Amino acid sequence: MSEISKEPTEEKSLNFIEQIIEEDLRNGKHGGRVLTRFPPEPNGYLHIGHAKSICLNFGVAQKYGGGTNLRFDDTNPVTEDTEYVDSIKNDVQWLGFQWVNEFYASDYFDSLYEYALLLIRKGLAYVDESTSEQMATQKGTPTEAGTNSPYRDRTPEENEALFVRMKNGEFAEGTRTLRAKIDMAASNMIMRDPVIYRIKFAHHHRTGDKWCIYPMYDFAHGQSDSIEKITHSICTLEFIPHRDLYDWCIEKLEIFPSKQYEFARLNLTYTVMSKRKLLQLVNEQHVTGWDDPRMPTISGLRRRGYTPESIREFCDRIGVARRDNLIDVSLLEFCIREHLNKVAERRMVVLDPLKVIITNFPEGQVEICHSENNPEDPNGGIRDIPFGREIYVERDDFMEVAPKKYFRLAPGQMVRLKSAYIIKCDDFVKDEAGNVTELHCSYIENSKSGSDTSGINVKGTLHWVSVNEALPIEIREYDRLFTVEDLSTAEGDFKDHINPNSLQVITGYAEPALKEAAIGDKFQFMRKGYFCLDPDSTADHLVFNRTVGLKDTWGKVAAK
Ligand code: ATP
Ligand code: MG
Repeated sequence: MSEISKEPTEEKSLNFIEQIIEEDLRNGKHGGRVLTRFPPEPNGYLHIGHAKSICLNFGVAQKYGGGTNLRFDDTNPVTEDTEYVDSIKNDVQWLGFQWVNEFYASDYFDSLYEYALLLIRKGLAYVDESTSEQMATQKGTPTEAGTNSPYRDRTPEENEALFVRMKNGEFAEGTRTLRAKIDMAASNMIMRDPVIYRIKFAHHHRTGDKWCIYPMYDFAHGQSDSIEKITHSICTLEFIPHRDLYDWCIEKLEIFPSKQYEFARLNLTYTVMSKRKLLQLVNEQHVTGWDDPRMPTISGLRRRGYTPESIREFCDRIGVARRDNLIDVSLLEFCIREHLNKVAERRMVVLDPLKVIITNFPEGQVEICHSENNPEDPNGGIRDIPFGREIYVERDDFMEVAPKKYFRLAPGQMVRLKSAYIIKCDDFVKDEAGNVTELHCSYIENSKSGSDTSGINVKGTLHWVSVNEALPIEIREYDRLFTVEDLSTAEGDFKDHINPNSLQVITGYAEPALKEAAIGDKFQFMRKGYFCLDPDSTADHLVFNRTVGLKDTWGKVAAK
């Protein structure tokens, strides 16, 4: 993945959507106006794929001096919920975007009903009594023309009377539909008299029980665009076959000519992206909720410690493709690592402690060391770190028999303790099982960081914490939620591939400064990775999520 290390260039070439917009602007189309929309269905939380669509829709509008509507595509009454509406608004704003209008497709139910009547009066729609099985048979196949419904030639007057009765609730669900009268031999199967209204006695989260007929997606989406005078309606590739119907409705209704453009969906390795599947993970408790830090949702990524900047950078780097592709999740991890390296304060936390006694340091004495919060940020400030006779270092920073070029602790070897002293390992203690339980070291008095006159050069610097002041913290380490890279081609049910070890909980020992952290604060635990304070934390029990390690170790692990 060589493009990862590439810096975004200044004169980045235009993506194909931008090319289309620039061409429209040159031709004075829509008077130079650009208005896009982001149209989520409020039936789940937004995921990183939606972030791609948000960055594109809001991004191009911003770039060309236009705006973006947030439109809830709430035409399916049974799956929608205001909890989802609220989370969607929150996520879009968190990503850094502000819509010009908040609309609901359900606000247009009256207009859509009028449009349906208009088509009926023009002889372009009819009420059908065929069952769904009969309609499926009438559809034909991609190589065979369909057959006309026996109800296709009703007069406009008959159709209007029947449609009004549908609306008035006189017919049972499934017994009547309104179909556009287009062409049962059309090569595009969607154009073979598609259903545009169906009966559903369902309570709608906004319109309540006012309606018992609801427009189908294809009859709602384009018209909603048109009502809002959207200039560029950007959607994903699966809508290509729907474009003919989109254009047909606009043409026949003689309404504002919005245009649809399609780009490739974002797919990520080691995860699923469909809301339906994510909902299953939540409902069946494979994760703790929509915002579980292992989820590819915006709320999950936020809780994991991702920043809006890193997600926008990721969307920018993957670009806008016209062909489906699978993006390596390590690119997303690269983006958060890069951002957190710049903004996250450093702290020392020992994850797997080994006690060290500094034998020549007075018992009971506490010495304060000073450390820069962030070497990448000159204004990041300095903090105090207590040092004492007993400290913890990482267990794997000691080896009884060290190979050459092992610059950490080993009998007779010296290291620097970050922001403190150089120490030398004199001895170690083992338990009966042969495990090393304690190191005995001595410190070099005149080697303190900042005032080191010892003249000793050591190659290794270790993080450490003082045993007396150490703060035990809960650390949640995450791995991929799934064990296979490409779930679209994986055998069996997607849940067969859930990684049983995607969460590991350990106790770490932190320097006391971490006590001041607020929920959502992000840190680099030196030499360990980036971590973020989880909302599950309480004043005396801090919980940190590992956002990402310091380096991409996945390639190595996978190669084993
Ligand atoms: P899902 O299958 O995950 O439920 P959806 O397409 O049904 O997705 P919507 O709420 O209808 O979800 O999507 C709102 C907008 O986000 C649409 O314009 C859709 O094309 C876009 N979108 C959804 N998923 C992706 C994705 N993976 N990559 C890019 N855009 C996406
Ligand atoms: Mg959808």
